[in-house]
Amino acid sequence: MSTQSPVENLFYLFDKTANIIQQELNCTYLEALAETAENVFHQSIIQDEISEMTKKRLEKEYQAVPIGHYSNEEIRKAYQLSLLKGMKHSTQSNHQMTPDAVSLFMGYLASKCMDNRKNISILDPAVGTGNLLTSIMNHIPSKEMIGFGSEIDDLLIRLAYNNSNLQKHTIQFFNQDSLEPLYIDPVDLVVCDIPIGYYPNDIGASKFSLKSNDGHSYSHHLFIEQSVKHTKAGGYLLLLIPNHLFTSDQADKMHRFIKEQCIIQGLVQLPLSMFKDEKSAKSIFILQKKGNEVTQPKQALLVDLPKFSNKDAMRGIIARIDSWFKTEKQPSTR
Ligand code: SAM
Repeated sequence: MSTQSPVENLFYLFDKTANIIQQELNCTYLEALAETAENVFHQSIIQDEISEMTKKRLEKEYQAVPIGHYSNEEIRKAYQLSLLKGMKHSTQSNHQMTPDAVSLFMGYLASKCMDNRKNISILDPAVGTGNLLTSIMNHIPSKEMIGFGSEIDDLLIRLAYNNSNLQKHTIQFFNQDSLEPLYIDPVDLVVCDIPIGYYPNDIGASKFSLKSNDGHSYSHHLFIEQSVKHTKAGGYLLLLIPNHLFTSDQADKMHRFIKEQCIIQGLVQLPLSMFKDEKSAKSIFILQKKGNEVTQPKQALLVDLPKFSNKDAMRGIIARIDSWFKTEKQPSTR
Protein backbone atom coordinates (compact mmCIF):
# COMPACT_ATOMS: atom_id res chain seq x y z
CA MET A 1 0.00 0.00 0.00
CA SER A 2 1.30 3.49 -0.87
CA THR A 3 2.35 5.61 2.12
CA GLN A 4 2.41 8.77 0.06
CA SER A 5 -0.11 11.51 0.74
CA PRO A 6 -2.53 12.51 -2.06
CA VAL A 7 -0.51 15.72 -2.60
CA GLU A 8 2.72 13.71 -2.96
CA ASN A 9 1.06 11.27 -5.39
CA LEU A 10 -0.11 14.11 -7.61
CA PHE A 11 3.18 16.00 -7.32
CA TYR A 12 5.07 12.88 -8.50
CA LEU A 13 2.69 12.61 -11.46
CA PHE A 14 3.21 16.26 -12.49
CA ASP A 15 6.95 16.02 -11.87
CA LYS A 16 7.57 12.73 -13.67
CA THR A 17 5.48 13.59 -16.72
CA ALA A 18 6.91 17.15 -16.89
CA ASN A 19 10.42 15.63 -16.92
CA ILE A 20 9.47 13.24 -19.74
CA ILE A 21 7.93 16.08 -21.79
CA GLN A 22 10.87 18.40 -21.05
CA GLN A 23 13.30 15.86 -22.50
CA GLU A 24 11.16 15.05 -25.51
CA LEU A 25 10.33 18.67 -26.44
CA ASN A 26 13.64 20.15 -25.27
CA CYS A 27 11.87 22.89 -23.31
CA THR A 28 12.07 24.24 -19.75
CA TYR A 29 10.55 22.40 -16.79
CA LEU A 30 7.88 25.12 -16.35
CA GLU A 31 6.87 24.92 -20.01
CA ALA A 32 6.69 21.13 -19.72
CA LEU A 33 4.60 21.49 -16.55
CA ALA A 34 2.06 23.63 -18.44
CA GLU A 35 1.96 20.95 -21.19
CA THR A 36 1.46 18.04 -18.80
CA ALA A 37 -1.25 19.93 -16.88
CA GLU A 38 -3.03 20.50 -20.19
CA ASN A 39 -2.82 16.76 -20.95
CA VAL A 40 -4.20 15.87 -17.51
CA PHE A 41 -7.09 18.30 -18.00
CA HIS A 42 -7.95 17.08 -21.53
CA GLN A 43 -7.28 13.47 -20.58
CA SER A 44 -5.30 13.05 -23.78
CA ILE A 45 -1.85 13.89 -25.04
CA ILE A 46 -2.20 17.02 -27.10
CA GLN A 47 1.42 17.51 -28.24
CA ASP A 48 1.73 16.23 -31.84
CA GLU A 49 5.54 16.32 -31.63
CA ILE A 50 5.64 13.57 -28.99
CA SER A 51 6.65 10.12 -30.28
CA GLU A 52 4.26 7.16 -30.03
CA MET A 53 6.53 5.44 -27.54
CA THR A 54 6.62 8.45 -25.19
CA LYS A 55 2.85 8.88 -25.58
CA LYS A 56 2.39 5.33 -24.26
CA ARG A 57 4.69 6.06 -21.28
CA LEU A 58 2.78 9.23 -20.47
CA GLU A 59 -0.62 7.55 -20.81
CA LYS A 60 0.44 4.89 -18.32
CA GLU A 61 1.45 7.57 -15.80
CA TYR A 62 -1.77 9.59 -16.26
CA GLN A 63 -3.97 6.50 -15.90
CA ALA A 64 -2.31 5.52 -12.61
CA VAL A 65 -3.30 8.82 -10.92
CA PRO A 66 -6.87 9.85 -11.90
CA ILE A 67 -7.22 13.60 -11.29
CA GLY A 68 -10.95 13.27 -10.51
CA HIS A 69 -10.08 11.60 -7.19
CA TYR A 70 -8.38 14.72 -5.79
CA SER A 71 -9.76 17.81 -4.06
CA ASN A 72 -9.06 21.32 -5.33
CA GLU A 73 -6.66 22.05 -2.48
CA GLU A 74 -4.75 18.79 -3.12
CA ILE A 75 -4.43 19.72 -6.79
CA ARG A 76 -3.37 23.31 -6.00
CA LYS A 77 -0.74 22.20 -3.48
CA ALA A 78 0.75 19.49 -5.71
CA TYR A 79 0.86 21.89 -8.67
CA GLN A 80 2.40 24.52 -6.41
CA LEU A 81 5.22 22.13 -5.41
CA SER A 82 5.97 21.52 -9.09
CA LEU A 83 5.88 25.27 -9.78
CA LEU A 84 8.33 25.90 -6.94
CA LYS A 85 10.66 23.25 -8.37
CA GLY A 86 10.48 24.86 -11.82
CA MET A 87 11.00 28.36 -10.45
CA LYS A 88 14.16 27.32 -8.63
CA HIS A 89 15.80 26.74 -12.01
CA SER A 90 14.13 29.66 -13.76
CA THR A 91 16.26 32.64 -14.64
CA GLN A 92 13.31 35.03 -14.57
CA SER A 93 13.17 36.87 -11.25
CA ASN A 94 9.50 37.82 -11.70
CA HIS A 95 8.46 34.14 -11.43
CA GLN A 96 7.62 34.58 -7.77
CA MET A 97 4.63 32.86 -6.35
CA THR A 98 2.74 34.09 -3.29
CA PRO A 99 3.87 31.86 -0.37
CA ASP A 100 1.36 29.20 0.59
CA ALA A 101 0.85 30.32 4.20
CA VAL A 102 0.06 33.85 2.96
CA SER A 103 -2.36 32.58 0.28
CA LEU A 104 -4.16 30.45 2.89
CA PHE A 105 -4.39 33.36 5.32
CA MET A 106 -5.70 35.69 2.60
CA GLY A 107 -8.24 32.96 1.73
CA TYR A 108 -9.44 33.03 5.32
CA LEU A 109 -9.73 36.86 5.27
CA ALA A 110 -11.55 36.72 1.92
CA SER A 111 -14.11 34.26 3.32
CA LYS A 112 -14.73 36.69 6.21
CA CYS A 113 -15.10 39.73 3.93
CA MET A 114 -17.45 37.91 1.53
CA ASP A 115 -19.43 36.15 4.26
CA ASN A 116 -22.87 37.53 3.45
CA ARG A 117 -22.62 37.76 -0.31
CA LYS A 118 -24.11 35.23 -2.68
CA ASN A 119 -22.68 35.77 -6.16
CA ILE A 120 -19.09 36.82 -6.01
CA SER A 121 -16.72 38.15 -8.65
CA ILE A 122 -12.99 38.23 -7.86
CA LEU A 123 -10.12 39.83 -9.75
CA ASP A 124 -6.38 39.30 -9.38
CA PRO A 125 -4.64 41.85 -11.65
CA ALA A 126 -1.20 40.23 -11.10
CA VAL A 127 -2.42 36.64 -11.21
CA GLY A 128 0.98 35.00 -11.85
CA THR A 129 0.54 31.21 -11.56
CA GLY A 130 -3.02 31.55 -10.21
CA ASN A 131 -1.92 30.11 -6.86
CA LEU A 132 -3.22 33.03 -4.77
CA LEU A 133 -6.46 33.45 -6.73
CA THR A 134 -7.39 29.74 -6.69
CA SER A 135 -6.43 29.43 -3.03
CA ILE A 136 -8.84 32.27 -2.26
CA MET A 137 -11.59 30.75 -4.41
CA ASN A 138 -11.11 27.41 -2.62
CA HIS A 139 -11.63 29.12 0.74
CA ILE A 140 -14.93 30.81 -0.13
CA PRO A 141 -17.07 27.68 -0.20
CA SER A 142 -20.51 27.06 -1.70
CA LYS A 143 -20.88 30.36 -3.49
CA GLU A 144 -21.49 31.21 -7.13
CA MET A 145 -18.10 32.60 -8.09
CA ILE A 146 -16.44 33.97 -11.16
CA GLY A 147 -12.77 34.92 -11.24
CA PHE A 148 -10.72 37.19 -13.47
CA GLY A 149 -6.93 37.11 -13.71
CA SER A 150 -4.60 39.39 -15.63
CA GLU A 151 -0.88 38.78 -16.09
CA ILE A 152 1.81 40.17 -18.39
CA ASP A 153 3.97 37.02 -18.59
CA ASP A 154 2.72 34.53 -21.17
CA LEU A 155 4.23 31.43 -19.54
CA LEU A 156 2.83 32.32 -16.12
CA ILE A 157 -0.65 32.85 -17.53
CA ARG A 158 -0.50 29.44 -19.27
CA LEU A 159 0.47 27.90 -15.94
CA ALA A 160 -2.39 29.82 -14.31
CA TYR A 161 -5.13 28.74 -16.69
CA ASN A 162 -4.05 25.12 -16.44
CA ASN A 163 -4.04 25.45 -12.65
CA SER A 164 -7.57 26.86 -12.79
CA ASN A 165 -8.80 24.20 -15.28
CA LEU A 166 -7.51 21.35 -13.12
CA GLN A 167 -9.41 22.81 -10.15
CA LYS A 168 -12.52 23.43 -12.35
CA HIS A 169 -12.74 27.11 -11.46
CA THR A 170 -14.51 29.58 -13.70
CA ILE A 171 -11.80 32.15 -14.31
CA GLN A 172 -11.31 34.41 -17.34
CA PHE A 173 -7.66 35.15 -18.05
CA PHE A 174 -6.17 38.19 -19.77
CA ASN A 175 -2.55 38.11 -20.98
CA GLN A 176 -1.74 41.81 -20.86
CA ASP A 177 -0.16 44.68 -18.98
CA SER A 178 -2.74 45.17 -16.20
CA LEU A 179 -1.97 48.88 -16.03
CA GLU A 180 -3.31 49.29 -19.58
CA PRO A 181 -7.14 49.48 -19.79
CA LEU A 182 -8.67 46.27 -18.38
CA TYR A 183 -11.89 45.14 -20.03
CA ILE A 184 -13.27 43.73 -16.78
CA ASP A 185 -16.30 45.14 -14.95
CA PRO A 186 -15.81 46.16 -11.30
CA VAL A 187 -15.80 43.13 -8.97
CA ASP A 188 -16.81 42.31 -5.38
CA LEU A 189 -13.26 41.46 -4.33
CA VAL A 190 -9.82 42.34 -5.67
CA VAL A 191 -6.92 40.25 -4.39
CA CYS A 192 -3.37 40.98 -5.38
CA ASP A 193 0.23 40.27 -4.41
CA ILE A 194 1.24 43.63 -5.81
CA PRO A 195 4.33 43.81 -8.05
CA ILE A 196 6.78 46.29 -6.57
CA GLY A 197 9.07 48.58 -8.53
CA TYR A 198 9.03 51.22 -11.24
CA TYR A 199 6.62 51.20 -14.17
CA PRO A 200 8.61 51.93 -17.32
CA ASN A 201 5.68 53.20 -19.41
CA ASP A 202 5.47 56.94 -18.53
CA ILE A 203 2.74 57.64 -21.11
CA GLY A 204 0.57 54.86 -19.65
CA ALA A 205 1.31 56.08 -16.12
CA SER A 206 0.22 59.63 -16.97
CA LYS A 207 -3.44 58.47 -16.95
CA PHE A 208 -3.25 57.60 -13.24
CA SER A 209 -3.73 60.10 -10.43
CA LEU A 210 -0.95 58.29 -8.50
CA LYS A 211 1.60 58.91 -11.27
CA SER A 212 4.92 60.39 -10.28
CA ASN A 213 5.42 64.04 -11.23
CA ASP A 214 9.03 63.31 -11.81
CA GLY A 215 10.52 60.24 -13.58
CA HIS A 216 9.02 56.74 -13.62
CA SER A 217 6.00 56.03 -11.41
CA TYR A 218 5.87 53.29 -8.80
CA SER A 219 4.07 50.30 -10.30
CA HIS A 220 2.79 49.34 -6.81
CA HIS A 221 1.02 52.71 -6.54
CA LEU A 222 -0.51 52.36 -10.00
CA PHE A 223 -1.60 48.78 -9.21
CA ILE A 224 -3.44 50.02 -6.11
CA GLU A 225 -5.24 52.70 -8.14
CA GLN A 226 -6.14 50.19 -10.89
CA SER A 227 -7.39 47.73 -8.25
CA VAL A 228 -9.61 50.35 -6.61
CA LYS A 229 -10.97 51.37 -10.02
CA HIS A 230 -12.00 47.76 -10.70
CA THR A 231 -13.76 47.27 -7.35
CA LYS A 232 -17.54 47.78 -7.02
CA ALA A 233 -18.81 50.37 -4.52
CA GLY A 234 -18.87 48.49 -1.20
CA GLY A 235 -16.50 45.81 -2.55
CA TYR A 236 -13.32 44.72 -0.80
CA LEU A 237 -9.62 44.72 -1.63
CA LEU A 238 -7.08 42.39 -0.05
CA LEU A 239 -3.70 43.65 -1.16
CA LEU A 240 -0.29 42.31 -0.28
CA ILE A 241 1.73 45.52 -0.03
CA PRO A 242 5.28 46.46 0.96
CA ASN A 243 5.52 47.92 4.48
CA HIS A 244 7.44 50.87 3.04
CA LEU A 245 4.30 51.98 1.15
CA PHE A 246 3.46 54.32 4.03
CA THR A 247 6.89 55.84 4.39
CA SER A 248 7.97 56.30 0.77
CA ASP A 249 8.48 59.74 -0.81
CA GLN A 250 5.01 59.57 -2.40
CA ALA A 251 3.19 58.21 0.66
CA ASP A 252 1.13 61.42 1.17
CA LYS A 253 -0.42 61.22 -2.26
CA MET A 254 -1.22 57.54 -1.71
CA HIS A 255 -2.84 58.29 1.68
CA ARG A 256 -5.03 61.02 0.17
CA PHE A 257 -6.12 58.73 -2.67
CA ILE A 258 -7.02 55.89 -0.31
CA LYS A 259 -8.93 58.21 2.07
CA GLU A 260 -10.89 59.67 -0.82
CA GLN A 261 -11.90 56.32 -2.36
CA CYS A 262 -11.87 53.71 0.41
CA ILE A 263 -12.34 52.88 4.05
CA ILE A 264 -9.32 51.27 5.66
CA GLN A 265 -10.69 48.18 7.40
CA GLY A 266 -7.41 46.69 8.50
CA LEU A 267 -3.72 46.10 8.16
CA VAL A 268 -2.21 42.72 8.95
CA GLN A 269 1.57 42.71 9.15
CA LEU A 270 3.22 39.45 8.11
CA PRO A 271 5.93 38.05 10.38
CA LEU A 272 9.30 39.69 9.64
CA SER A 273 10.95 36.26 9.76
CA MET A 274 9.31 35.49 6.38
CA PHE A 275 11.45 38.08 4.62
CA LYS A 276 15.15 38.36 3.94
CA ASP A 277 15.25 41.82 5.57
CA GLU A 278 12.96 44.45 7.03
CA LYS A 279 12.94 46.46 3.79
CA SER A 280 11.25 43.63 1.89
CA ALA A 281 8.62 42.93 4.57
CA LYS A 282 4.95 42.99 3.56
CA SER A 283 1.48 43.42 5.01
CA ILE A 284 -2.06 42.57 3.95
CA PHE A 285 -4.03 45.76 3.45
CA ILE A 286 -7.82 45.33 3.87
CA LEU A 287 -9.76 48.08 2.13
CA GLN A 288 -13.42 48.57 1.34
CA LYS A 289 -14.41 50.86 -1.48
CA LYS A 290 -16.77 53.62 -0.36
CA GLY A 291 -20.45 53.02 -1.08
CA ASN A 292 -23.93 53.62 0.36
CA GLU A 293 -23.87 51.11 3.21
CA VAL A 294 -20.17 51.24 3.91
CA THR A 295 -19.24 52.49 7.36
CA GLN A 296 -15.96 53.27 9.05
CA PRO A 297 -15.07 50.57 11.61
CA LYS A 298 -15.04 51.76 15.22
CA GLN A 299 -11.53 50.46 15.25
CA ALA A 300 -9.54 49.22 12.26
CA LEU A 301 -8.19 45.67 12.50
CA LEU A 302 -4.48 46.11 13.24
CA VAL A 303 -2.62 42.87 13.66
CA ASP A 304 1.02 41.77 13.81
CA LEU A 305 0.98 38.13 12.80
CA PRO A 306 3.17 35.68 14.71
CA LYS A 307 5.12 33.02 12.79
CA PHE A 308 2.60 30.82 10.97
CA SER A 309 4.25 27.79 12.60
CA ASN A 310 3.33 29.10 16.10
CA LYS A 311 -0.03 27.31 16.24
CA ASP A 312 -1.12 28.60 19.68
CA ALA A 313 -0.42 32.25 18.87
CA MET A 314 -2.12 31.85 15.45
CA ARG A 315 -5.24 30.38 17.12
CA GLY A 316 -5.40 33.45 19.39
CA ILE A 317 -5.08 35.83 16.43
CA ILE A 318 -7.76 34.00 14.42
CA ALA A 319 -10.14 34.23 17.42
CA ARG A 320 -9.43 37.99 17.62
CA ILE A 321 -10.05 38.48 13.89
CA ASP A 322 -13.25 36.37 14.01
CA SER A 323 -14.57 38.53 16.83
CA TRP A 324 -13.56 41.76 15.01
CA PHE A 325 -15.60 40.71 11.95
CA LYS A 326 -18.55 39.74 14.18
CA THR A 327 -18.69 43.14 15.89
CA GLU A 328 -17.72 45.41 13.03
CA LYS A 329 -19.46 43.91 10.02
CA GLN A 330 -23.18 44.45 9.55
CA PRO A 331 -24.83 41.59 7.67
CA SER A 332 -25.42 42.67 4.08
CA THR A 333 -26.83 40.41 1.38
CA ARG A 334 -25.98 41.53 -2.09
N1 SAM B 1 -0.08 35.91 -6.74
C1 SAM B 1 0.74 35.39 -7.80
C2 SAM B 1 0.84 33.87 -7.68
O1 SAM B 1 0.24 33.28 -6.75
O2 SAM B 1 1.52 33.24 -8.52
C3 SAM B 1 2.14 35.98 -7.80
C4 SAM B 1 2.17 37.45 -8.03
S1 SAM B 1 3.81 38.05 -8.30
C5 SAM B 1 4.26 38.67 -6.78
C6 SAM B 1 3.48 39.50 -9.24
C7 SAM B 1 3.07 39.21 -10.67
O3 SAM B 1 2.78 40.44 -11.32
C8 SAM B 1 4.15 38.53 -11.51
O4 SAM B 1 3.62 37.33 -12.01
C9 SAM B 1 4.43 39.52 -12.65
O5 SAM B 1 4.71 38.89 -13.89
C10 SAM B 1 3.13 40.31 -12.69
N2 SAM B 1 3.23 41.68 -13.25
C11 SAM B 1 4.18 42.60 -13.02
N3 SAM B 1 3.90 43.74 -13.68
C12 SAM B 1 2.74 43.53 -14.34
C13 SAM B 1 1.92 44.32 -15.20
N4 SAM B 1 2.25 45.58 -15.50
N5 SAM B 1 0.80 43.79 -15.69
C14 SAM B 1 0.44 42.50 -15.39
N6 SAM B 1 1.17 41.70 -14.60
C15 SAM B 1 2.30 42.21 -14.07
